[in-house]
Amino acid sequence: MEAKEVSAPATGVGCCVSAEEIEKWMEEAMQMAREALENTEVPVGCLLVYNNEVVGKGRNEVNQTKNATRHAEMVAIDQVLEWCRGRGRSPSEVFERTVLYVTVEPCIMCAAALRLMRIPLVVYGCQNERFGGCGSVLDIASADLPNTGRSFQCIPGYRAEEAVEMLKNFYKQENPNAPKSKVRKKECQKS
Ligand SMILES: [Zn+2]
Repeated sequence: MEAKEVSAPATGVGCCVSAEEIEKWMEEAMQMAREALENTEVPVGCLLVYNNEVVGKGRNEVNQTKNATRHAEMVAIDQVLEWCRGRGRSPSEVFERTVLYVTVEPCIMCAAALRLMRIPLVVYGCQNERFGGCGSVLDIASADLPNTGRSFQCIPGYRAEEAVEMLKNFYKQENPNAPKSKVRKKECQKS
């Protein structure tokens, strides 16, 4: 794959990623999403990368924790704060040079959190048509919102089909909260 420098001019922060970096980190994010799927969570995985180092990673933990806000991005943000504490680093300095790699477009809640933490760049897989905060439902990423952190740049569409396929598998088979009565009824009628 040809190396392509992608910069984030909107923020003025020197934050570039190459095609090789995207490939490498998105593969790891996909692995996190697979882990979520194996644990009957909505398959979303993400990495927060600072200075070529993974400083936070996460997958959905909503069912496990019974906490609807434990999205992959929120889990990873907590890890970055922990990483900063352990090294005596300033979180604001780290976050403003950190790139988020995530398999699905961040939702409205997470997009707002990313703005508040001043993460300049998000690379993501598929669109999130139900809850997407980077253009699909609302455009929290680039909206002009007073006192709401800073807008961020997005690079969408990386391995989108794979990410969608995982979501489809989850909603078809894995979701313990999904109503199954209709399917069962049909199966009974058939036999
Ligand atoms: Zn979210």
